Amino acid sequence: MGISLLRTAAMMLIAAVACAYAQQPIRDLRPTVILISLDGFRWDYPEKYDAPTISRIAREGVRAKWMIPSFPTKTFPNHYTTVTGLYPADHGLVENNVFDFDTVFTMSKREEVENSRWWGGEPIWVTAERQGQRAASFFWVGSEAKIDGIQPTTWKRYDGKIPNEERVDTVLSWLDKPRSERPTVITLYFSDTDDAGHAAGPDSKEVRDAVKKVDGDVARLVEGLKKRKIEKKVNIILTSDHGMAAVSQRSAVIMDEHFDPTDKTLADPVITTGEIWQIFPKPNREDEIMRKLSGVKNATCWRKSDIPDRFSYKHGKRVAPILCVADIGWSLTTKERQTALEKRTDFPRVRGAHGFDNKHKEMQAIFIARGAAFKRSLIVEPFGNIEVYNVMCRILGLNPAPNSGDLRRVRGMLR
Ligand SMILES: [Zn+2]
Repeated sequence: MGISLLRTAAMMLIAAVACAYAQQPIRDLRPTVILISLDGFRWDYPEKYDAPTISRIAREGVRAKWMIPSFPTKTFPNHYTTVTGLYPADHGLVENNVFDFDTVFTMSKREEVENSRWWGGEPIWVTAERQGQRAASFFWVGSEAKIDGIQPTTWKRYDGKIPNEERVDTVLSWLDKPRSERPTVITLYFSDTDDAGHAAGPDSKEVRDAVKKVDGDVARLVEGLKKRKIEKKVNIILTSDHGMAAVSQRSAVIMDEHFDPTDKTLADPVITTGEIWQIFPKPNREDEIMRKLSGVKNATCWRKSDIPDRFSYKHGKRVAPILCVADIGWSLTTKERQTALEKRTDFPRVRGAHGFDNKHKEMQAIFIARGAAFKRSLIVEPFGNIEVYNVMCRILGLNPAPNSGDLRRVRGMLR
């Protein structure tokens, strides 16, 4: 009796384990896109480092020689451009930090990140939900706010501590839902290559390891699709928001030798990063500030109206009246900050940065895609990240909202 019970229990256990491992094939999949962002994954990393899965997807599917990020080559503007087809000036996220409503938006101000007032345009998940499809997001810039009253059916509050494996497994579990509940647009985000690139520069062992790590995460996703027998059907689009440039801590532009950012009688706010300063002059002080900035070397300061047209930027209503951009490989800083750096025992280190002019090779991103909608083994000329939204709409059978992309420029990659 005892043995028989034990045997029954053991068999039930085996059945449960087998059930958990035997993946049901998905036979009723609609056209589906998984949009993946590998933050700061530079266009040349698949060759520079070891990325077997990403390289295989590139060989089997479509690869742009590189994808051109929008200016400024920062994270928030470019993630949101990729999903809207709008330039940063048009969707409103003109930098990672944005001044409007008498407030400075930053990536870490949760109440602002979740406030719809910052987010213009129509991201792909809103287009999909509006037209009767479902969207799900395991992180994407903009997905934490209601936009036009709409959010993805499933979304996650950003938490960088959630392991990539958990993100992948959760995305796979969404595909296991019944057809009526299954999302057709899924976004997925990994920060590893950006984190390592900032810390140690693009030529480091740290980045090599990060590339290997995210390649393994993509492999886990592909493996899960294979188990569900949808590996060839699902359209995976691997993108990045920008590249990464090496910046020595010696290459510092001491901005306050020219202009004091703390002098609120001159300008307020002055929003500073190592690559971009956004200066909002007090009334009638713009000329004076421009005169002071005229001696700056290794950076360029423009009045808003003089910002080059090729950035498609200066018409943005949130663009600062004066904009300074560091030359590639240089960092905008203050005397105080630079002195503190120079006192450190590890000075000078080489680190990594982005945000510079989007013409530089170091700033270029990736576009690698494979699936039912994409041609096989095709390399295409570089294109801007404003084109990705239309490509996704075409695959999903959605009417795109007005945007700056033009499907004719990229249609050749689709079957
Ligand atoms: Zn980024």
